[in-house]
Amino acid sequence: MKQAPEILKVLWDEAAIQVRVRELGAQITRDYERNLSETLTRNPPIAVGLLRGAVIFLSDLIRAMPIPVECDFMQIASYGKDSKPGTLQLVRDLQNSVCERHLLIVEDIVDTGQTLGHLAQKLTARGAASIRFCALIDKTARRRTPVELDYVGFRLQEDAFLVGYGLDYAEKYRNLPYIAALKPEAVI
Ligand code: 5GP
Repeated sequence: MKQAPEILKVLWDEAAIQVRVRELGAQITRDYERNLSETLTRNPPIAVGLLRGAVIFLSDLIRAMPIPVECDFMQIASYGKDSKPGTLQLVRDLQNSVCERHLLIVEDIVDTGQTLGHLAQKLTARGAASIRFCALIDKTARRRTPVELDYVGFRLQEDAFLVGYGLDYAEKYRNLPYIAALKPEAVI
């Protein structure tokens, strides 16, 4: 695919992402097998994907987890057509009850931490048996709400706006097989 002119640099290419996602899948599998061994089949964990950015990550991740796992999706809007954080709004809720269930929250990128902080409270209040957070990218420069991430694909200290592998800017670039930083002048 020809690289768009708005792209500043590729941070992680397709091969690096695939390797890291498989490592995360193996690590998560080991942890669930160790901690939930007897109940895994009776009460499998639910991978909760945050729409829409985490869809591609989640679909690769669960295929790297050879254990029983269910999927559900939530959508929390905080970004509109620009890159500034806003007020959180629950756009789509989970289909099934999470009471007594083990949840693996799958997020594309953690920025201020506001979204995951909010989710942790909401899902704990609904009686989840356990909640683990898995983020493909932990972008720390603008963190305001501290969140404990159990699994992290890649860490980024600089404050760049990333696209690709599910991440969009104004709904573009989700289908890029790599993760790239946009040129600052391309982000309004
Ligand atoms: P937080 O609540 O942690 O500030 O924001 C998390 C959400 O903001 C992510 O799920 C994602 O939708 C969006 N976001 C934060 N940083 C970026 C970025 O660099 N690129 C893209 N495409 N979205 C981002």
